[in-house]
Amino acid sequence: MSQMVFHLDNLQLSQRSGGSRLRQCPGTATVGLLVQKFGGTSVADSNKILAAARRAIRAHQAGEKVVVVVSARGHTTDELIDLAKEISDPPPARELDMLISTGEQVSVALMAMAVQALGVPAISFTGAQIGLVTDSFHTRARIREIATDRIRQALDSGQIVIVAGFQGIDANANITTLGRGGSDTTAVALAAVLQADACEIFTDVDGVYTTDPRVVPEARKLDRISYDEMLELASLGAGVMHSRSIEFAKKYGVPIHVRSSFSDSNGTWIVGADDARHAGSVTGCALVKDEARITVLGVPDRPGVVHELFRRIAQAKIVVDMIVQNVAFQGQTEVSFTVSAEDLPNALEVAQIAAQAIGAAGIDHDAHVSKVSIVGQGMRVHTGVAFSLFKALGEAGINIDMITTSEIKISVLVAKAAGVPALRIAHKSFGLEQPCTDPTHAHFKPRRLASPARGLVSSDEEAMTSPGMEDLVITDVELDMTQSRVTVQNLPNTPGQSAHVFELIANAGVFVDMIVQNTGRGTHTNLSFTVPRTEAEQAAAAVRQAVPQGQVVVDSDLAKLSVTGVGMRTHTGVATRMFGALADRNINIAMISTSEVRLNVITPHGAGQAGIACLRQAFHLPEPDSSTSRSAT
Ligand code: ASP
Ligand code: MG
Repeated sequence: MSQMVFHLDNLQLSQRSGGSRLRQCPGTATVGLLVQKFGGTSVADSNKILAAARRAIRAHQAGEKVVVVVSARGHTTDELIDLAKEISDPPPARELDMLISTGEQVSVALMAMAVQALGVPAISFTGAQIGLVTDSFHTRARIREIATDRIRQALDSGQIVIVAGFQGIDANANITTLGRGGSDTTAVALAAVLQADACEIFTDVDGVYTTDPRVVPEARKLDRISYDEMLELASLGAGVMHSRSIEFAKKYGVPIHVRSSFSDSNGTWIVGADDARHAGSVTGCALVKDEARITVLGVPDRPGVVHELFRRIAQAKIVVDMIVQNVAFQGQTEVSFTVSAEDLPNALEVAQIAAQAIGAAGIDHDAHVSKVSIVGQGMRVHTGVAFSLFKALGEAGINIDMITTSEIKISVLVAKAAGVPALRIAHKSFGLEQPCTDPTHAHFKPRRLASPARGLVSSDEEAMTSPGMEDLVITDVELDMTQSRVTVQNLPNTPGQSAHVFELIANAGVFVDMIVQNTGRGTHTNLSFTVPRTEAEQAAAAVRQAVPQGQVVVDSDLAKLSVTGVGMRTHTGVATRMFGALADRNINIAMISTSEVRLNVITPHGAGQAGIACLRQAFHLPEPDSSTSRSAT
C-alpha cells in the first residue's frame, strides 16, 4: 500500500497541531467533514436506501464533505452465517469472512446508485479498496491502520463517498471482519483518521436512554453522555453501539451523534466529559441479567496469588467482569469475580484447579446472579450516591451480594430474580424518569478533543514497534496515598445493612471513594470503603453507631493504585498484567475493585512508590509526572 497511512502517532501529532473543528480550504468557505453511518434496518429495502441517500445529500448540499458507512441490509449477515453453517459447522473463519463481508458490499453499491440516481456524484468502496488494514484474527479482527488518500481524492472531487462497514483486509490481503456490529467501529475509525467534525450513527432507536426502555418503560432519552459513562454502561439501551466504537471515539476525541434514521430530531451526543456534564449525580443505569459469581475461599494473603488465579482464567480465554477482593482476616482473604452465565462451567473448572494451586480453601459459586450498575460523572462530586442506592434496594427487601465501585460507577450483585426490580428501583430513586430540561441543548456544538492517548500496550510485543489504531491504550496509572480504609466486620448479610452504614457516613458529610463488599458465605459479610485519611476516624465513629455488634477497623497503612485506559473493556489481560507486575515486585494486594475503564488495588502504604513505578513500566508509560500522584503528609 503506497498511500498515506495514519498511525496513532501521526494522528496525535496532527491533532495537537490543529484541534479546530472546521478546516479552512484554500479559496472556499470553511468545509466540515461528516461521517454518517446507516445500520442494517436503515438500509433494509430500496425505499430506505433512497431515504438514507437523501439524508447524505442534504448534508452534502449544506456544504459538508460526506462519508457514508453502511451495514449489510436487514438480517443479511445472520442469513449468510446460517447458510454457511448448513454446509460446515463451524465454518472456516477465513471463508466465513469472505462470505459475510459481501453483505456490506451489496449495501454500498446500492447506496452509491441511490445517491447518483438523485443527481449527486457518489462512489462506493470496500474496506480493501480504501486500505483499511486489520490484524489477521478472522471474524473479530482489529483495525491497525486506514489509508485516507483515496477517500480524500473522491471527496475533493465533490463525490459522496460510500464505504462498506465491518470489513478490512489483513497484511496478506485476506478479507477480515471486525466482529458483529462492527460497522459502528468502521464509522468512528474513519471519522478519527479523516478528523471529521462528527460521526452520526443512524439507527432504529432515537438515541441512548437512561436505561433499556424495554425493561423500564419510563426510561428517557439522554441529550448527552460522556464516553466513559457510555463505556461503563456498555449494556445500556440494549447495546445501542459496539463498545469498540466508543473506545475509538474516546481515544481520538470523535463526537458521536446517535439518532433515528426515520426522523430529524436530535438524538444523543456521546462526547467528552466536559461537554457531557449535567446536573444530576447519576446519568443512567444498566442491568446484566445473566452473570455467575465464583468466590475463591480462604485465599492465602500473600503476593502473587491473585495474579496466579487470574492468569489461569485469562489463559482459558474467559472474560471476567467484576473482581472483588476484600480485606484479609487471619491471613486469609476471599476473592470473588463474575463471568457470564454461559462461561460458568468452564470458569469453575479453571478456578477449581487454580484454587488448589494457590493453596486456597475451596470455591463457592452462584449461577444465578444479576449485576445492576448506576453510572454518572456527577458521582465524582456528589456524596451519598451509594447510600441512596443501597437505601432504595434495602427498602425493597433486595439483598446486596457484592459491591464494587469506580469513580463514576457503583455496581451491585443481586439474586437473578431481583435483577429487573432492582434496575427499576435504581432508575426511580435517582429520578431518571424526569424529563431533561436543558435549554442550551438545542444549540449544542460538540468539540473534537485532542487524543488523550499515552501509554500503549499490546499483547504482541512485536506490535509495540508498529502500533495499531485499536491497540489497548493505558492513559494513566495513579498513586493515591491520601486514603484510609474503614472495614466493618461481621455485618449481618440482610437487606438494608449497607444502606444503614452509608447513611451515617453521608450524614457525617464524608466523601467515600472506593467501596468493596464481598459476598457473604453465611449470615455475615465484610464491607470496606476508603475515605480521606483525615476523616477516617470520624467515619468510623459514625459507623460504630450502626453496627454495635460488629467491629469497625480503620487502617491507614495503605496506598491506592489505579490503572485507567481505553480498550480495557474489549481487551483482556489488563488485570493480569497489573497483578503480575505487582507480584513480580512482591507487593501484596489488599483489596481490588474493577470497572470498564478503571482497575483499583489497595497495597500497603510502603509499597506505593514501588508499585506505581512497576506499573508505569508494565504499561510502557513515561517517567514520573508529579501531577499523577497524591500523597498525604
Ligand atoms: N453486518 C454486520 C453485522 O450484522 C455489521 C454491522 O451491522 O454493524 O454484525
Ligand atoms: Mg448494528
